[in-house]
Amino acid sequence: MKILKIDHLGIAVKDMQAGKAFWSDILGLAFEGEETVAEQKVTTGFFPVGESEVELLESTAPDGPVARYIEKKGEGLQHVAFRVDDIEAALSELKAKGVRLIDEKPRIGAGGAKIAFLHPKSTHGVLVELCQRS
Ligand code: ZN
Repeated sequence: MKILKIDHLGIAVKDMQAGKAFWSDILGLAFEGEETVAEQKVTTGFFPVGESEVELLESTAPDGPVARYIEKKGEGLQHVAFRVDDIEAALSELKAKGVRLIDEKPRIGAGGAKIAFLHPKSTHGVLVELCQRS
């Protein structure tokens, strides 16, 4: 497998507007727009930073994964996403190496990217997302 770069950092926020006020108004990052991924019960907001992006995540429902994350750990860095050249190949290679996968098969995330998560129990506590964009 080949990791090309850090695609984005996923940051859980309780409120997208409040999150934007910091990342955009205070830090001065351009806001690229938001998108709701209904299946994940999340609204994402993107702020490009050089070759990568900051992705704010606001839950759309109290039982969504981001809401549950904030309940347990509070707001903050939720996942690190690496861009790979071939996500299917990466997942089978990692599986063969004994890495626990949350997603055995890629699903479609924000921006139409193919994404899959690795279990934090296999990554020393970091929720890692693999992401392939065409
Ligand atoms: Zn992500």
